Amino acid sequence: MLQKDGLRIHPVPAFEDNYLWVLEDGRHAAVVDPGDEHPVQAFLESRGLALTAILATHHHGDHVGGLEWLAKRWGCEAFGPAGEKIDGLTRRLREGDRIVVPGLDVELSVLDVPGHTRGHIAYAGPNLVFCGDTLFACGCGRLFEGTPAQMADSLSKLARLPAATRVYCAHEYTMANIRFALAVEPGNAKLFERSLREAAARAAGRPTLPSTIGEELDTNPFLRCAAPEVVAAASKHAGRALATPVEVFTAVREWKNGFR
Ligand code: ZN
Ligand code: FE
Repeated sequence: MLQKDGLRIHPVPAFEDNYLWVLEDGRHAAVVDPGDEHPVQAFLESRGLALTAILATHHHGDHVGGLEWLAKRWGCEAFGPAGEKIDGLTRRLREGDRIVVPGLDVELSVLDVPGHTRGHIAYAGPNLVFCGDTLFACGCGRLFEGTPAQMADSLSKLARLPAATRVYCAHEYTMANIRFALAVEPGNAKLFERSLREAAARAAGRPTLPSTIGEELDTNPFLRCAAPEVVAAASKHAGRALATPVEVFTAVREWKNGFR
């Protein structure tokens, strides 16, 4: 087992809809994408945890706004993408790098997943992935810096992880994403079933995350750009026949950008 027994992962809500994920074993903790130091510090204090590592996926403020403060306060390692300018990092990572999270003995490998930003990375363990703003439940990140081809490639990289891999996304966007996904695939029974389940979770005040890669393969239109239903819907919306999965992805992403 690369992942120690007794490891727990908690969503710490921040801003409108961010989740700052905290991994902890009862003594030590690591935080992924600390956009704000305040809720993280409050969480650590309320549970008597010592922060031993910070993991950043990309340079946006809602992911790294609290990084420098926390790294200084705790004197801990701060990991982040080699290809982005983030103040306070102590170790810069790229695809193929493996790290053992200090204090937690969790082994994670780094994937380059450009698209949302140019240097975006994800952290994959044997049964989990922290994917920042690349893959969302039933959706994907906006293309601020990368090309559709890059994002499609990054998403296929994540899609190749084992189906049981738990997906820890950085935002609670699920219900809005499902509304769009249902517009693309109104006949997808698994998607419809998921919409009921996630709506019930939200009504009960629970996060919809983590999801799993298997669930995303079944219901996320951005991972389904080769599915005949998605090809047909995207072609119809674009008003022309779309040939390749990247063309389909590009059309679905543009459709979503204008979807209300
Ligand atoms: Zn972002
Ligand atoms: Fe974000």
